[in-house]
Amino acid sequence: MVNPMEEYDTIIIGAGPAGLTAAIYSSREGQKTLLLDKAVPGGQIYLSSIVENYPGVKSTSGAALISTMVGQATSFGTKIKQFEEVKEANLKEKIIKTDRGEYKSKSIIIATGNRWRKLNVPGEEELLGKGVSYCATCDGPFFKNQEVAVIGGGDSAIEEGLHLTKFANKVYIIHRRNELRASKRLQDLAFSNPKIEFIWNSEVSSINGNANVESITLKNNNSNEETSLALSGAFIFIGMLPNSEIFKGQLETDPRGYILTGEWMQTKIPGVYAAGDVRHSPLKQVTTATSDGTVSAVSASRGQF
Ligand SMILES: Cc1cc2nc3c(=O)[nH]c(=O)nc-3n(C[C@H](O)[C@H](O)[C@H](O)COP(=O)(O)OP(=O)(O)OC[C@H]3O[C@@H](n4cnc5c(N)ncnc54)[C@H](O)[C@@H]3O)c2cc1C
Repeated sequence: MVNPMEEYDTIIIGAGPAGLTAAIYSSREGQKTLLLDKAVPGGQIYLSSIVENYPGVKSTSGAALISTMVGQATSFGTKIKQFEEVKEANLKEKIIKTDRGEYKSKSIIIATGNRWRKLNVPGEEELLGKGVSYCATCDGPFFKNQEVAVIGGGDSAIEEGLHLTKFANKVYIIHRRNELRASKRLQDLAFSNPKIEFIWNSEVSSINGNANVESITLKNNNSNEETSLALSGAFIFIGMLPNSEIFKGQLETDPRGYILTGEWMQTKIPGVYAAGDVRHSPLKQVTTATSDGTVSAVSASRGQF
């Protein structure tokens, strides 16, 4: 016998700060609410050891902040299903297919966030967690007194590079241009840090090693010359990409794939909203994600747009 599709008033895809806030507002409004996440609830902030810019909380960890949000959402009746990935969405019909089931709802809030861009070079995938990392906060302490590289030239790359100097002996910052995009304040801090050495006009062509990262191969963009640099960690910060591929062709996005919304977080499909980092917006923080989550849930529960 085929199981009937579970039905909800609101289905929220993604349990980061945006999705959790939407869940709190939605279930508190009396909406039958399902919150789906392909991992555990938390999103990007979950692994951050210190959060100091969430108003009302002087200093906390991402995990502690998220745990409170999860408690709030479930206390108002949100059903959370973790380790359940949305694979397909028919947004017009409001039907969601996951790796475990199929659901129908009156409205959908997309809060799938974004992720670090990959270099797509040999060794990156194979050595992930064995020296290749996208999170200095998470993995920096593993590289005490070692040599590491940061790849990128924006704020995140420089911030993470500075953070790594607390552990590593030496931090190479590898950038494909001859100047940084990072803010002046961060540049000043990096240029005056004796542990940081810049390698300009260079791109990584492979990350090498057997059990762990042992070296990277660099190509100089001016001379095309290839060189090898011995090190044990490669931290990649070359920008972010939105997790919006599963909705491709159904919604309006900017050229990078960030979903376009109106000020009520509405998309061009009635009853479908987007909130947080997956949305085209000027700033991506926990506070902006929770704000979007609030607006999207109120829009959905009022049935406007
Ligand atoms: C290392 C780091 C440190 C940061 N520090 C700070 C800070 O100190 N202060 C601050 O304000 N901001 C900080 N940020 C930014 C902040 O974490 C993000 O802006 C915020 O998490 C965005 O929330 P979100 O809910 O929109 O998306 P995310 O946090 O990205 O959450 C999206 C969720 O959707 C889930 N998901 C994605 N696709 C699917 C799918 N197909 N099916 C089911 N689930 C799916 C993911 O598993 C994830 O849990 C930091 C970010 C990073 C990476």
